[in-house]
Amino acid sequence: MIPNPDFLSGLNPQQKQAVTAPPGHILVLAGPGSGKTRVLTHRIAYLITQYHLPPSNILAVTFTNKAARVMESRLEDLLGEKPQGIWLGTFHAICARILRREAENLPFSSNFVIYDEDDQQSLVKTALRELNIDEKMFKPASIRSVISTAKNNMQTPDDLTSRNYREEVNLRVYRRYQELLRVNNALDFDDLLNEVVNLLTQNQAVRDRYSRRFGEILVDEFQDTNTAQYQILRSLAVGNASMFVVGDEDQSIYRWRGADYRNVQSFERDFPDCQKILLEQNYRSTQTVLDAARAIIDHNINRTPKRLFSDNGKGEAITLFESADDKLEADYVADTIRQNLKAKKWKGSQVAVMYRTNAQSRLLEEAFLRANLPYRLVGAQRFYGRREVKDIIAYLRLIYNPSDEVSLTRVINVPPRGIGDKTVTTLQQRAHEMNISAGEVLADLGKLGQQSAHFASFSGRSALSLADFGSNLNTWREASSKGMPLTRLFFQILEDTAYQEYIDDTTEEGHQRWENVLELGKIAAEFEDRGLDEFLERLALVSDQDTLAEDVEAPTLLTLHAAKGLEFPIVFITGLDDGLLPHSRSLDDPEEMAEERRLLYVGITRAKDRVYLTRADRRSTYGGYDNSAPSRFLKDIPAKLLLQQGAVSSSRGGFSSSYSSPRERRTESYANWTTPSPTYGSFKPTPRQAKPAVEQRFPANCRVKHEVWGEGLVVKSVLEDGDETVDVFFDTVGFKRLAASLAKLEII
Ligand code: ATP
Ligand code: MG
Repeated sequence: MIPNPDFLSGLNPQQKQAVTAPPGHILVLAGPGSGKTRVLTHRIAYLITQYHLPPSNILAVTFTNKAARVMESRLEDLLGEKPQGIWLGTFHAICARILRREAENLPFSSNFVIYDEDDQQSLVKTALRELNIDEKMFKPASIRSVISTAKNNMQTPDDLTSRNYREEVNLRVYRRYQELLRVNNALDFDDLLNEVVNLLTQNQAVRDRYSRRFGEILVDEFQDTNTAQYQILRSLAVGNASMFVVGDEDQSIYRWRGADYRNVQSFERDFPDCQKILLEQNYRSTQTVLDAARAIIDHNINRTPKRLFSDNGKGEAITLFESADDKLEADYVADTIRQNLKAKKWKGSQVAVMYRTNAQSRLLEEAFLRANLPYRLVGAQRFYGRREVKDIIAYLRLIYNPSDEVSLTRVINVPPRGIGDKTVTTLQQRAHEMNISAGEVLADLGKLGQQSAHFASFSGRSALSLADFGSNLNTWREASSKGMPLTRLFFQILEDTAYQEYIDDTTEEGHQRWENVLELGKIAAEFEDRGLDEFLERLALVSDQDTLAEDVEAPTLLTLHAAKGLEFPIVFITGLDDGLLPHSRSLDDPEEMAEERRLLYVGITRAKDRVYLTRADRRSTYGGYDNSAPSRFLKDIPAKLLLQQGAVSSSRGGFSSSYSSPRERRTESYANWTTPSPTYGSFKPTPRQAKPAVEQRFPANCRVKHEVWGEGLVVKSVLEDGDETVDVFFDTVGFKRLAASLAKLEII
């Protein structure tokens, strides 16, 4: 066989070895940016062109849907056409596909819907209500998470015993929750995996069919597989399939979702004949970025040190910015980006701003708004979590699967149609008595109206409202099954329910909500040819990374978790404070602490050219401030790699909100500070030298101009500790307190 030179020219010898290896199990373990994902993609192309393996015999697993789409388009570039019939997607998407095909062997039908966390919680609430358990004492959110943990460990209710009352409640709710899933013809995320594990272990014919089908199984980000996923791979590989898995134990960051990097060791044990290939050249980052990242990860015990070098040169130092509080930290990030964009040094899409928890995005978003900078926020919550978006999705799900009671209860009175809670309870009771789903009761009422046997169970007015709603559902369902295009169905629902009048109450928020509905319509339009089922599946399996808008020239805001596998020329990592990164939950658990380290490692290694690490001495909490100390990870980065900016005063915290004693102080304007700080590594808060007294430059009542916030009126100005603290009321953003040495204020 003559390898197509195009595939192989862009690969180094180790990469080439992996791509062209003869059939057999292969484990590629290598550090970030060493080309694992690239090798995996090229391997697929190689198998198709050189070994003439039909694409339909290939199963390739990526960590996100977006990664799958990116891989698909790379393959198209390499092959000159789309590989037809390849199974390429996340574990969840692939499992959903298997389950729909195999539904006849399973206790649910193929039009099952997939419940997200919100839906799961509603179901837990229903279970609690039915079992007469007070949800104030037994919080649905925590029961949901107990259930999910059990499922991650592949424990059914029958596998569990209870040692106390609380556990007994959890167990009973878990049992009922599972029954309700069946009644609703729904699966949750954990079920998608577990049901496939069950199917493959219990039904040999099915297992043989799939293991015969897949000649090659490839897995990216293997270090983040969980137990169920690993079992699926193992069952499929019993036949003649070759496994090609790539990963990096140091980048395992999904322990909280059940991921277990020890699967790498299990792989070596279960496939002893596997060939292990190491990749050592990093093509992504500068040496400085790699050195800083290595300094962080080297502190984790029980890891195999990996060689990783870069030919990209030393590059620029890592900037460390310390600010007095989290708001100034966010302003620094937005300002730095804005200035570099203005100077045309950076392009918006080259920049990523990362943080440990979703909640941290709010201050950053506000700072971007103040700086008048567009941004892209990664996170499913932002769009798909919106009430109006969830409403419309619930309608569509209900059309697709009449048994979906979670969706039914969501929209049965949205927009209001005179169906109160009492009627809903009666409806559920009636369904229960008749041993059918509430959706079926509705469908019957919709079809037969007063002739329906259920009609008399309700008071006259509610019965009519229910029949009316049921009739709408029937009409939509019929239209959909007769092939009404998805977008027409979408707008038909909006029209029939007068949803716009309901959601757009003419306020700005109302307009925005309606815009979101229209945005969902646009997404539906992309699925016009594929239909309602694929559309719903994509929505259900949407992950944070998938919400990343493409081709938008704006910086990206995202959590460290969502940054996995991505790369950006410039990376800001914010909130490097103990309690945030590492997260407070990890402080007394060495395993969790090691994972926090890996998380920072993943963040830093996303950068090609520049890394900025930022932190704040004080962070706002409800109505006040909490002091915070530098992240313990910072002291592990050698001082010679760091460039410190905007150091803060040692008088940490205790910032008084009373104007007379502002203690907030930064010693230098960060824009002018370029001297490396060789002593930073020690992190002893060194008292700042008092600066000589300065003159008051911005007396009260003068008007000033600020580069970002525009014009404003000075309300008060105080000299203290050698700096001038100025309170300004800006026309744009309102009240701000600024240090004159730092803020670029001009009198106008
Ligand atoms: P991570 O661990 O972060 O997922 P990875 O090992 O999967 O990283 P890739 O994303 O595949 O690494 O590659 C990192 C970058 O290096 C990409 O931009 C890729 O195109 C580039 N790259 C990889 N190998 C080569 C090569 N041989 N020549 C040129 N560029 C390469
Ligand atoms: Mg990768």
